[in-house]
Amino acid sequence: MPAAAHRSGRSVMSTPDDINLRSEVPDTVTVEHRGEHEWRVTQRFLGDEHDNNHNVTWLRIRNPGPETPIRVEVIWAEFRYMADRGFGYLKHGDAWATVRGETTPTSTVYEFTAPAGDSLFGTFPWYGIEDESRFIETICARSTLYSVRSIGRTGEGRPINCLCIGDESKPSFVVLARMHAAESAGSWAVEGAAEYLLGDEARPLLEQYRFHLFISVNPDGVANGIKLTRMGPVEEYDMVRGGMTSADPTIVALREELFSLQPACLISHHSYLWSVPFLGVFERQVGLDMLDYLVNDDDLGNTGAWLVRFTGAERGFLRWECYSRFDTTVAFTELPWHHRLPDTISGQGVDILKATLAAHQHKLRARRGEMYVR
Ligand SMILES: [Zn+2]
Repeated sequence: MPAAAHRSGRSVMSTPDDINLRSEVPDTVTVEHRGEHEWRVTQRFLGDEHDNNHNVTWLRIRNPGPETPIRVEVIWAEFRYMADRGFGYLKHGDAWATVRGETTPTSTVYEFTAPAGDSLFGTFPWYGIEDESRFIETICARSTLYSVRSIGRTGEGRPINCLCIGDESKPSFVVLARMHAAESAGSWAVEGAAEYLLGDEARPLLEQYRFHLFISVNPDGVANGIKLTRMGPVEEYDMVRGGMTSADPTIVALREELFSLQPACLISHHSYLWSVPFLGVFERQVGLDMLDYLVNDDDLGNTGAWLVRFTGAERGFLRWECYSRFDTTVAFTELPWHHRLPDTISGQGVDILKATLAAHQHKLRARRGEMYVR
């Protein structure tokens, strides 16, 4: 029986017929059963080595009876952005739904109906190692155009998988998700890009580029529900900040891979808490061309507004090194959840891929005399 139940003076005896909640990602939260249909979930990770905005809170609800209203209070690890924490996500079968929560200064309280059977609930959708395996298996079964390779092993021995498609002799186009493993949105963005590349519209692209898609470039971080490759100093285990200097096996493998591919284009997907999606670029014209594409898109509700940063030298970051060494056209994103569903994020993944291509092709044309501002 949880200690909290004693404190509240209530006795919560679980029987096999009761609804049960447990964390899908080990050690990320503490779950206390507070009342018959009431739980308190406390995030456990706090500190610079974690992304406290994306502390993984992903719970399996096991409901052996009929659908039942339940109450889940999530105590956040820190309290800086409570205004952006009023929603949660429920997954039942393949169906996703958002859930409204009430925020307090330190927590969000969710009251919703737990479906009969198993469902998953959390503060944002989680995408685990098994989801990656399942997607790779499915897409490779659907089309022989895709192949899978591993660019190396992580510190914990997991393969770092890359889905490849397109003409092998052509320039590389790399898409990365989960350098910050807790930022799950990127995996759906890459899924979207992978599906798009199988469509008719993308056929000419496969003759011009070889695409290297990483659904989870930091599998240890994904498996452990953390931001970095492992717990510890950011210089050593943050795939962005430690890009050029770290000796961590995952970071070394990506560094060597990028330096060998010398990509023509590189996209790196991230996710922050604010509502407007973010685009970071090193070249002003790339940013302007991408905006032209993205903001002319017809879906004003979701992708009509973008926050763009023209970023200066990011010394020590792999994306900057690719730009400065290989003239790579680089775009990095923050794709916030903020009520968006996974399908919307997948669509943004397609939009970003197409916008990056448009910007890159303009850059190449400009080399042949068209007006261009670097
Ligand atoms: Zn990030």
